[in-house]
Amino acid sequence: MSKKAVSQSELENWVDSVIQGHKTYGVKSKQDKYDYGILENASQLKLDYDVTIRSPKFLFLPAVESIASFNRENAKYESEIENEAFVVFGVHPYDVVAINQMDTIFSQPNRDEHYMTRRNNATIVAVDVQTPSEDVFAGYMGTATVEEGFDVLVTRIGDDAYLIDAATEKGEKLIASLSGANDADDSDIQSRADVWEENKNKLRRHELEVEPSEWPELLKKSVESPLWEEKSEKCFSCGSCNLVCPTCYCFDVQEDVNWDMKSGKRVRTWDGCMLTNFATVAGPHNFRADKAERYRHRYYRKGAYVPEKIDGEIACIGCGRCINACVAKIANPVEVMNRLAEEK
Ligand code: SF4
Ligand code: SF4
Repeated sequence: MSKKAVSQSELENWVDSVIQGHKTYGVKSKQDKYDYGILENASQLKLDYDVTIRSPKFLFLPAVESIASFNRENAKYESEIENEAFVVFGVHPYDVVAINQMDTIFSQPNRDEHYMTRRNNATIVAVDVQTPSEDVFAGYMGTATVEEGFDVLVTRIGDDAYLIDAATEKGEKLIASLSGANDADDSDIQSRADVWEENKNKLRRHELEVEPSEWPELLKKSVESPLWEEKSEKCFSCGSCNLVCPTCYCFDVQEDVNWDMKSGKRVRTWDGCMLTNFATVAGPHNFRADKAERYRHRYYRKGAYVPEKIDGEIACIGCGRCINACVAKIANPVEVMNRLAEEK
């Protein structure tokens, strides 16, 4: 696969050529923050951003989507699947890891065609972090850098120098317009290795004292910890920590029936385990009505239940979004895991 060394202007020309030929998302400024949006030209793309408000999961699992339409009159029931190729620029390594975890979850054992169609239509251009966010702890989670799981990786290796690395056939096609650019040499590859080494240390804004591999065992011993009650006293059950999290994928499905009472749509929307009615079933019975139980469940899901499904990988990639989003300042996984370790 090709590795190219390009200047800032060569990079921008390439991004512009991609935008002209593809539906293209990228990281853009949103007042004093950053978020993904449709790119109209390369100057809108921010590759030195700290963290995006939304994780890129919405590109594969939208917050609201119609998954089927129905009409009782003609006994019609049709699946609705969005099937359009797109490129996304600027995905940070920790979010690449989250996307790959979601791929595993949605492809096996019950394959989700809606998610997987969007995912297979996507070409992911990852970018190594240039500006660590205030709350990132990816350096402790092994997600500060990635060597796979993307189609192209862009790394800033000097003031006016970038290494562009195609990792898949899709990536190779996307960088075809760079065929005239210089191939990266050993010193460029070394410069990228230096960036990776530096990022593994720089992306450590909260000091985690428990190895991620120890989280499942520690949680198993902590069911009765007083921490769950104590921290959750301040919880508003707003669900923000779920909604910003790149590895939270719970959803609800409801029928949206038209006024004719015959036709309508089946709609899927994001749900969140911190919301009061998340576990309400017919009856109505809420089997997680207590907020301390919901608060505890979120950590068990990240550190014990999902790892059981995906070969021990922890479903927290250390992006720090929940820390920032929580008004009550109780959603920090580092604080919780350190405190549980202290109790043992
Ligand atoms: S739990 Fe928090 S830090 Fe971990 S992946 Fe989710 S939002 Fe990011
Ligand atoms: S932990 Fe914080 S962000 Fe999460 S539901 Fe409670 S108050 Fe909201």
